[in-house]
Amino acid sequence: MGSLFAVKIDLHCHTTVSDGRLSPAEIVRRAVDKKIDVLAITDHDQTAAYFEAHDVIKSENLPIQLIPGIELSVNWNGKEIHMLGLNFDPYHADINALVTRQGQRREERAQRISEKLERIGLKDGLARIKANNPNGIITRNHFAKLLIDDGLCSSMQNAFTRFLGKGNIGFVKTDWADFKTCITTIKAAGGKTAIAHPTRYKQNNRKLREMIAEFKQLGGQGLEIAWSQQAPSDREFLGRLALENDLEVSAGSDFHFPAPWLELGKNLHLSERYHPIWCDWGLAAPAAKSA
Ligand code: AMP
Ligand code: MN
Ligand code: MN
Ligand code: MN
Repeated sequence: MGSLFAVKIDLHCHTTVSDGRLSPAEIVRRAVDKKIDVLAITDHDQTAAYFEAHDVIKSENLPIQLIPGIELSVNWNGKEIHMLGLNFDPYHADINALVTRQGQRREERAQRISEKLERIGLKDGLARIKANNPNGIITRNHFAKLLIDDGLCSSMQNAFTRFLGKGNIGFVKTDWADFKTCITTIKAAGGKTAIAHPTRYKQNNRKLREMIAEFKQLGGQGLEIAWSQQAPSDREFLGRLALENDLEVSAGSDFHFPAPWLELGKNLHLSERYHPIWCDWGLAAPAAKSA
């Protein structure tokens, strides 16, 4: 069998089920185009894309392995953190309960964001988002897009800096599930957790280390150390933290839409010093697959 690192993997991307622009069917076809062997779709607080993507892979006989995934919004010490859940049973009752609860939190939050943004001139925000995507998970990205469409903001970045980021008028503090609940739930459903993009939370390294130590102590397994738009020094730093804390490593593009700087499977190389989170998933290495 070939090295586990020879498998082309992408364990973090989004579809129209949350704030991605491609449907689950389009994502898996694109992943096959990009020669990805193993893909996890990790929509915000929702697993629905898995079922749709799974059916497409089956009916079109696509050469790709799909892993159930989710990107959970989690509260750690009053901070919003993203935690990946990977390779769990997507039918498990505890997963369904968590997805339902997170969905309610998102719904209430979207309602309040919409009310707040009315005050700065964004008309019928929530209704317009729902009209476009009736069953989708609503994220701040959706509001950012409306702010741009209505000429109230010049770019996504601008929308977050002025209206949607922490401390701005449209920010709504949300009581997301905590570390323990998320870790326990994913574990109960047979999966593993990894902290998503750990260096993107605007906290100093002391807090980052504290967060990782607590995650590990509560039974978390992995750190996402590689994503597409990342400095090499950042990947090395996170790799060291993973080794120091005896955590496995994960890699994912965080793809939301096709762009010159962002692609499925792009720039996710990992050093073989690390212990990959997919080590015990029984994945077929590419050579074995084509035999
Ligand atoms: P939410 O989960 O509803 O808080 O939305 C968060 C999503 O908004 C993230 O997953 C990103 O896709 C996007 N996002 C967050 N911050 C920014 C930013 N500064 N610029 C552009 N997109 C952002
Ligand atoms: Mn997103
Ligand atoms: Mn994220
Ligand atoms: Mn993401």
